[in-house]
Amino acid sequence: MSLTVNYEELEEFRHEVRKMAEKEFASKAAYWDRNEEFPDANRKVLAELGYLGMGVPEEYGGAGVPMIQGVIFLEELARVCFNTALVGQIYLNGPSKAIAVLGTEEQKKRLLPGVVEGKHFLAISISEPGAGSAVTDLTSNIQIKNGKYILNGAKCYTTGGHVATHSFVFARFGQCSGSKGIGAIIVERDMPGVTFGPPESKMGGRGVSETEVFFDNVEIPPENIVVEGNPNDTSGFKRLMSSFGPERVGNAGMCLGLSQAAYEKALAYTQEREQFGRPICEFQGIQWKIADMATQLHAARLMIYDAATNLKNGFPEPKACAMAKLYANEMAQRVTNEALQVHGHAGYTRDLPLEQMVRDARGFALGGGTPEILRNTIAAQCYGRTFNQRRS
Ligand SMILES: Cc1cc2nc3c(=O)[nH]c(=O)nc-3n(C[C@H](O)[C@H](O)[C@H](O)COP(=O)(O)OP(=O)(O)OC[C@H]3O[C@@H](n4cnc5c(N)ncnc54)[C@H](O)[C@@H]3O)c2cc1C
Repeated sequence: MSLTVNYEELEEFRHEVRKMAEKEFASKAAYWDRNEEFPDANRKVLAELGYLGMGVPEEYGGAGVPMIQGVIFLEELARVCFNTALVGQIYLNGPSKAIAVLGTEEQKKRLLPGVVEGKHFLAISISEPGAGSAVTDLTSNIQIKNGKYILNGAKCYTTGGHVATHSFVFARFGQCSGSKGIGAIIVERDMPGVTFGPPESKMGGRGVSETEVFFDNVEIPPENIVVEGNPNDTSGFKRLMSSFGPERVGNAGMCLGLSQAAYEKALAYTQEREQFGRPICEFQGIQWKIADMATQLHAARLMIYDAATNLKNGFPEPKACAMAKLYANEMAQRVTNEALQVHGHAGYTRDLPLEQMVRDARGFALGGGTPEILRNTIAAQCYGRTFNQRRS
């Protein structure tokens, strides 16, 4: 299914978000990075202006906008304030999306209005110390004891874990291995036996840290089970993975916005900076860098918008998502790095945002599927088969 897109309306929307982001978020974009502080004030602004509920269906208080509109929103936020865009991505394409698709009516009514209002912050806990790319190696486990669901395990790299009110946790139901038995539950922060680690320091996206999360005999009420895993089959895992395409497209959209900002800075600076008695943009070596940046941005934009509009059953195609994220992740590293390069030493200092852009771009190619794993996904689609990654 291809979405009929009204590009004129989308451009009006882009203009509205750009104006809002520049007014509200530009002045403190470096502050969140330097201080490793969560941009909570910006989260509240987004809630007040109704942007946090953009992806939530209208019947639960949101706007239920098409995916392409969400991509443009994240693109424009990332162009101005990367850490605020990360918050936008979690709200738009994180657990609330999965709950809207996979959750029960009661879960949607209970959780989604709080997402729209910004009262809830839903993090996502999939990764574990021994299960990163190999998600199906996860060992967080739910056992049914005396009719109660008891969760034990440990998670790592939960983005926003230090501020989350809830986490959407992948866990294995019963005794089984591989993709079998994997399901997902909602864990509330104040449930007995739940502990979140402190925020971890990292290279980029420093305003929105990751944390560990530990579960020690946590009793999960049945109404918090979103997808119940069956120890005898892989259906739960398949259902969960099917709802993760939008996260990849959103990640790619943020790469686009961040790289667009770097490109704009490079374009302006190369016309101002003079060496050898003329603006450096008059050197062909510089012009070609700008041409390469513009070309890569254009290619990424086409791939991302294509993935966000050519939907199947309401979701982007896995191959299109993987290609868009892969290309955008690597493009963002090249473009931000070249933009720093044309600024010379000035770009390397903290007086300008270029060095932050290079650091922020780096994490995209780790979270939400590494380029190596994305290439595996694409290759599997090309060959029409998956290759066993596990040593037999
Ligand atoms: C900024 C950021 C935010 C994150 N947020 C979250 C979050 O909110 N929730 C969450 O659950 N997780 C989160 N993660 C974790 C992320 O999903 C993992 O980092 C990712 O899945 C990779 O796992 P790993 O880091 O353990 O690397 P590993 O899986 O140990 O991989 C190490 C290297 O080996 C490569 N590799 C592994 N297997 C293969 C293979 N089969 N073929 C080729 N190469 C391979 C990888 O690509 C990588 O380069 C986040 C990560 C980052 C960087």
